[in-house]
Amino acid sequence: MSKILEKQNGGSQTVLRQRNVSLVLETIKSNGPIAKREIVYLTGLSFAKVNSIIIFLHNLGLILEVGKEKSNGGRPSSIFELNQNFRYTIGCQLSHTQIHTIVSNLKGEILFNNIKPFDKSIGKEVVIDMLIDSIDNLIKNSGIPKDKFIGIGVAIAGLFNPKDETTLPFPHLVTWGNVSFKSILSNKFKLPCYINNVANAAALAERNFGLGKGIENALYLNVGSGLGMGIIFNGKLYEGVSGTAGEFGHITVDENGPLCACGNVGCLEAIASTKAVIIDAKDRLRQGVSSVLSNMVKDNINNLDFKMICDAAVQSDKLAFGIIDKMGQNLGEGIVTLINLLNPERIILGGKIVDASKLIIIPIMNIVQKRALEIPRRNTEIVFSNMGSNAGTVGSTIPIIEKFFENEVNTLVD
Ligand SMILES: [Zn+2]
Repeated sequence: MSKILEKQNGGSQTVLRQRNVSLVLETIKSNGPIAKREIVYLTGLSFAKVNSIIIFLHNLGLILEVGKEKSNGGRPSSIFELNQNFRYTIGCQLSHTQIHTIVSNLKGEILFNNIKPFDKSIGKEVVIDMLIDSIDNLIKNSGIPKDKFIGIGVAIAGLFNPKDETTLPFPHLVTWGNVSFKSILSNKFKLPCYINNVANAAALAERNFGLGKGIENALYLNVGSGLGMGIIFNGKLYEGVSGTAGEFGHITVDENGPLCACGNVGCLEAIASTKAVIIDAKDRLRQGVSSVLSNMVKDNINNLDFKMICDAAVQSDKLAFGIIDKMGQNLGEGIVTLINLLNPERIILGGKIVDASKLIIIPIMNIVQKRALEIPRRNTEIVFSNMGSNAGTVGSTIPIIEKFFENEVNTLVD
């Protein structure tokens, strides 16, 4: 590709140089630490051109020389990698119970972190003020100069209107419609702002920095109090025509099932989300089913959470074990549909389900082995995320980083 670029006619010298700079930078970003010799090979550019671009990027501070290759007699080639602390991003995740804000670098590493819980009854205006305060404090406390920040990303536990990027009412915060985080935050902080859905943001985080790295067709399932999905299709996030692709939680699995937050009945989310199984466990405890969960909640059934059910299941508590087993079977049914329909290379399970990974993988795999079509099943790997609850927040910064490398780097090239 690069050889074509080098030979391409019609573009100005500057455009051509910008493209070559981008190519070298992308090669270092994707493959670093990498020897200069290897960069020449992978880009197809001449040694002299690569050398001049490397000097330019090194002088800018965008790449670092981190060593020399072992010599086989010839002159050892220098090794370079991206300077991940050249610029910084701010990532936010807004759920219906808390605001999570981070400062991270170009490699998605979290450098500063802040969590502010809230009660949704305080209203959206107060929560927006909390979000602004949280970002403000994070920037100040980081000690990083303001001009080193390149943008703010917001991952929301809901959908937004793709035309103007204002929020639609959140499933758990129905009064949250019509908020433009983009204009609020970009006006306040004078930085570009990007908005994304949590499951999509988490899928981007996995694709760039986690278990989706190098995987062109992957699905990220966020299994928590909701059931969302981010689809990586041919290496890119697939969002559908109106940005709502991946609503895996709202496929109907039981037409006589419980009412779902979306208004439908028997959605997978209403049966196999952590919220659904907690409701189920509470009902059974109220009916007098014997379980160690009764002791764990300390006489207040409202204390029951998903982690307690997982811990009780590990202790072979019959009720808890049965609940996790059934949840796994139901998720397995949904995953069979995904495997047959989309033929993904890897399915990454993230969110609260990770607490139950050791137990729940057994019923999931039993159903997948039994029901999924053989060819796609053999080619799909099911894994659990190791990014924890940070995936959505880190993922909210990916569009900022992408834009930086696509556009802003060019402004540095003279
Ligand atoms: Zn639903």
